[in-house]
Amino acid sequence: MSTTAESLRDLHSLHQRAKALRDRLNSGPRTLAARQAALATRQAEVEAAKKALQDAKLHVKKHEHSLKGIESKIDELTIKLNQVKKNEEYKALQNQIAHDQNTKGKVEEDILNSLDGVETKSAEVARLEADLQKFASEVEALRKMIDDQSAAQKAQLAELEVAITQAETAIPEEHRDHYRRIVSRYGADALTACEDDSCHGCYTSITPQMKNELINNSGLTFCLSCGRLLYYVAPEPSTTKRTAKAR
Ligand SMILES: [Zn+2]
Repeated sequence: MSTTAESLRDLHSLHQRAKALRDRLNSGPRTLAARQAALATRQAEVEAAKKALQDAKLHVKKHEHSLKGIESKIDELTIKLNQVKKNEEYKALQNQIAHDQNTKGKVEEDILNSLDGVETKSAEVARLEADLQKFASEVEALRKMIDDQSAAQKAQLAELEVAITQAETAIPEEHRDHYRRIVSRYGADALTACEDDSCHGCYTSITPQMKNELINNSGLTFCLSCGRLLYYVAPEPSTTKRTAKAR
């Protein structure tokens, strides 16, 4: 069978469609992986906020414990104060009690401030957890969408691969090896249009003899510079039309 510009153009188009599908099949999992990494970062933020909350609660507990200690010490000192006879001892105890009362005040103030901190941190944890949940369900929805699409895309790709194999029968046996080599080198663009007397793959001009071959569909014509398989595209009749197309 003779190879026509049309059969080569169709084969090129099939290769390009297959490439576009492969690109989409690859980009989906990449996007998903990036989102999953962002999700892991947010999970770590939530864990850090929870830890800070736990620490703040522990801080309050410790101070409440020492407050109790100070209070019972003051109670004991007050009992002693009522029992001492000597004025000196009385004064010393009074000083000690005043000192402990002062410490007690400071600890109480610290507890109040820490309780404020606990409240703020609790709200922060709640906010981060809600955000995380929302983001996690978005990532899950994306994963599902990519999964669903990938099944359909894989089926389409399998169909295209069959179509490519069929379309490749247009390549004469003696050129198959060269064809395989340029496909493995250039992928979907191993075939290229020859328009305005130049290869669209590398923009090298073709010879008049090559142009004749291309117009007459006499065998396969490969670009002398890049090796791509060329197919002829006739020049468009008017320049106005070409300008419009270029936009
Ligand atoms: Zn070329």
